[in-house]
Amino acid sequence: MERTAIYAGSFDPVTEGHLDILRRGLTLFDRVIVVITHNPDKRGCFTVPEREALLRKCTRDMPGVSVDSWSGLTTAYARRVGACAMLRGLRDGGDWQAEQRLALINRRLCPEAETVFLTALPEHMAVSSSAVRELASYGAPLTGYVPACIEEDIRARFAEAAARRNWTGV
Ligand code: ADP
Repeated sequence: MERTAIYAGSFDPVTEGHLDILRRGLTLFDRVIVVITHNPDKRGCFTVPEREALLRKCTRDMPGVSVDSWSGLTTAYARRVGACAMLRGLRDGGDWQAEQRLALINRRLCPEAETVFLTALPEHMAVSSSAVRELASYGAPLTGYVPACIEEDIRARFAEAAARRNWTGV
């Protein structure tokens, strides 16, 4: 039987850290569905269709990956697609605290989907969507934070803010 995992998050925007977890998750599962979870009452930086487009661009050469969005409980999505696991990434103790709680709640709601944690690579420990947004808002280089294929899309999105902030390269 095909083993499906879901990898849920805000992906606002997707980073190299997310993609590494996804690649490694693919060695464990036949299929990984990246699910952009969002609260319709909260506006992110990138719209959900924008986040989806960026994710699709980064994962187009990854067979076994699909991208979707969902505004309900992650466990409801997991059950809907028959997932056996929920893939998560851990950078540090802060992630662990939040993730452990979430895993316990999710276990109660959907015991058939095991939470699987993969530790971040050392070079991705300081990589986060919020760091990408902050750097992009100054027009700073995003190398190492996001794949080259979407760097220009993100820079374009922040071009106006970056012009106001006048990045000097120091
Ligand atoms: P963020 O926490 O940056 O807003 P998401 O909500 O999109 O990101 O996170 C989805 C999952 O990916 C979470 O399990 C999170 O801990 C993990 N993750 C985020 N950034 C990284 C990274 N740099 N390396 C490994 N895992 C990460």
